[in-house]
Amino acid sequence: ISSLFRVSEKQATAAQLAAGIAHEIRNPITAIKGFLQLLTGENVGNKIYFEIMHSEIDRIEAILKELMVLAKPSKQKYERINLQVLLEQVVTLMTSQALLNTIQIEKQYDFTNGWILGDSDRLKQVFINYIKNAIEAMPNGGVLRIYGSSLADGQVRISVIDQGSGIPSEILEQIGKPFFTTKENGTGLGMLVSQQIIKEHRGDIYIESDSKGTSIQVKLPLLSQE
Ligand code: ADP
Ligand code: MG
Repeated sequence: ISSLFRVSEKQATAAQLAAGIAHEIRNPITAIKGFLQLLTGENVGNKIYFEIMHSEIDRIEAILKELMVLAKPSKQKYERINLQVLLEQVVTLMTSQALLNTIQIEKQYDFTNGWILGDSDRLKQVFINYIKNAIEAMPNGGVLRIYGSSLADGQVRISVIDQGSGIPSEILEQIGKPFFTTKENGTGLGMLVSQQIIKEHRGDIYIESDSKGTSIQVKLPLLSQE
């Protein structure tokens, strides 16, 4: 059964978000503190302890980096963006990660007009997040498809389609909740951050998923042609 799911806002309250942040950051800090306490006497130079602390600090850094995207004010310098160029830049960035996972990226663009108004760094982040998730959903490799086309209704559609095992419906409902993750080292912020950015650009997100894979579609308003 495939389910098409229009991602709407499931805005977390400030209290829920604060509780999530506190929890997510407290865990690695507790770990770091514990290992610091162990670094005495003959353990003082224990390399493994340092490595664990380092990776925990990296985790805090990753969480804060994603949260900062959410914290950014939505009034920004919007510029004319050619989506095909932007997608190409994102694909180039993600190519090595895809190859390392024996994933082939197939692209297909059908833009009669691919210009939109937006913040290119933030939009790139969205597609990086989706491609990352797609790669992570295909641990045994596969094909990752990226389609872009301009539609007749004044919108543009970008699809990121993977051949992973899909998102069960009970999990689909959780997606976009802050810190919701099914991954051991996930932050559970990628989908939320992406939703926020697409919303700022007055776009919509649709998720379609079954046991053969997942398709994430983003629709954005085209810049009208003068
Ligand atoms: P993270 O990747 O850190 O777990 P995200 O917010 O990016 O956080 O994603 C949240 C969850 O949504 C993932 O843990 C995963 O369960 C699910 N998910 C997102 N994209 C996909 C996909 N393409 N295929 C399967 N599951 C996905
Ligand atoms: Mg992710």
